[in-house]
Amino acid sequence: MITLKEALGLSPEALAEFKVQLRADIEANSELNAYVALESVGEGVPIAVKDNIQVKNWSVTGGSKILQGYIAPYNATVIEKMHTAGLSPFGRTNMDEFAMGSTTESSYYGKTLNPHNPACVPGGSSGGSAAAVAAGLAIAALGSDTGGSIRQPAAFCGIVGMKPTYGRVSRYGLGAYASSLDQIGPMTQNVEDAAILYDIISGYDEHDSTSVNRNDKVSDTLDASRKLTIAIIPNYIKDASEEVKHAFAKAVAVLRNAGHTIVERELMDAKYDISAYYVTATAEATTNLARYDGIRYGNRVEGSNLKETYVKSRSEGFGDEVKRRILLGNFVLSSGYYDAYYVKAQKVRHLIKEEYERIFNEVDLILSPVAPRTAYEFGALSDPLEMYLSDIYTISVNLAGLPAISLPIETSETGMPVGLQLIAAPFDEQTLFDGALSLEQSLQSQQKRRDV
Ligand code: GLN
Repeated sequence: MITLKEALGLSPEALAEFKVQLRADIEANSELNAYVALESVGEGVPIAVKDNIQVKNWSVTGGSKILQGYIAPYNATVIEKMHTAGLSPFGRTNMDEFAMGSTTESSYYGKTLNPHNPACVPGGSSGGSAAAVAAGLAIAALGSDTGGSIRQPAAFCGIVGMKPTYGRVSRYGLGAYASSLDQIGPMTQNVEDAAILYDIISGYDEHDSTSVNRNDKVSDTLDASRKLTIAIIPNYIKDASEEVKHAFAKAVAVLRNAGHTIVERELMDAKYDISAYYVTATAEATTNLARYDGIRYGNRVEGSNLKETYVKSRSEGFGDEVKRRILLGNFVLSSGYYDAYYVKAQKVRHLIKEEYERIFNEVDLILSPVAPRTAYEFGALSDPLEMYLSDIYTISVNLAGLPAISLPIETSETGMPVGLQLIAAPFDEQTLFDGALSLEQSLQSQQKRRDV
């Protein structure tokens, strides 16, 4: 598959020809179920779009039954920015319902398969975007990351996935899951393409009150030669699988060899991250999902009165995982429990932020696993709590609002990709991409030496 950088240099004729071939390839690989529909707009470079980002006149459903039939009346800001840069949305990608999940199994459209092994999950919730890029069925894709949904499927499918600093990319037109955590970001074949797409979609937007008024760009100033100080967190790695530990040791060696300084730091036990995240995310989700009542949007199931219409529309429209989160969110917000759960989670969130600040006073980047293990078989995490626990390495980044990038390190003995993430201080995307490019290039030159 051509890269985004290459595609941006194609003539309109070559691009049109490419799109015809792309559509044929996607149709020939429909069993992957990476795409839920193949709408396209305009003549620009085609970019796959997660099914929770508004594209005008597309049916955008958040992977949910309750939004079947809904047609987006406007473009998300990221889509407007793509149009301006000569990119056009091409195809809606599959996802966990309302981005709640880590496997893409909770989608109304059925599961997406991992292109490296169809018995395994592609990760989630942006599993369709990750599988499309990994299978050569998209040049690049947009995903969204509330607690790891860009980085973890990128790691499971062997591609690059980047979550920007909270406030960098407008959330206007993104189907809200947990508004204080959500960010849209690029999912690409390599680090440079991620920087290019990040530059295109980021920047101030008056339509998003949490958008930050900074417009600094990174792709023209990428510098893999900078020597950085990179922290590793030993108490984090000890619970990872052998495959993840192996990739971690390799990345550390490669980074050292490239001239970076590796230092050890401690972070508080990640089990607190899980509690703080699932309290915060479900509380916000409950509020955000209240709007889906069958009246204004999507699927209505008529009852004999208004209340019955609400109940029927929501009972039939939402899947089990979404219902579970609505129940959890209402519980943690209810009077009597609010202080014990919601307020406490915000305190923990504050502590997590402070811990990261302390570390980033001394280092440029943190290297960490993305997930405790590589992609697993469908149904392996049928216990919801087990699935929540598998987000252990990604969610603190969202709680602290930091930028992070997941990139492929190696292939395990069982043939599955192993990814790791670099994390940077808020708004230091430049250092994040510089470090990621250095790691990517060092891994490639090591591979070349081995092949010789
Ligand atoms: N797996 C996490 C959750 O289910 C993260 C999802 C996401 O980032 N959208 O909440």
